[in-house]
Amino acid sequence: MREFEREATVVVCKCTHSKQPFGIRMEKINGVWHQTWAFKINEKAAKNEGYGTEMVSGRIEVDAEYPGCPYCGTMGWFSCGNCGNLTCYSGETNIVTCAWCGNKGECQAAESFDLKGGGY
Ligand SMILES: [Zn+2]
Ligand SMILES: [Zn+2]
Repeated sequence: MREFEREATVVVCKCTHSKQPFGIRMEKINGVWHQTWAFKINEKAAKNEGYGTEMVSGRIEVDAEYPGCPYCGTMGWFSCGNCGNLTCYSGETNIVTCAWCGNKGECQAAESFDLKGGGY
């Protein structure tokens, strides 16, 4: 069996509906990031665990196993142009509101991201 290079990190996202944070587990498989899991967290725990301190950049694919936002089931998310944090996003509307800073903006459907999570 071939050994694949595998890296994993957790980025912090907030639910657009409940405004509650959750972690998205990202795994880098053959150079491509995959969203593989999502789980509820609280902000304090996120800071203690050091989530969101690692840079995730490049293409991000949603794994077939990915359960979606643990609060509302949304599969997608967007990165705020103002604070850079993530908010779950269903793709229903072009105008999105950041659950972290309240910034309203147009969502650009990009395939590639440079992410840096909470604590900034
Ligand atoms: Zn949500
Ligand atoms: Zn924001």
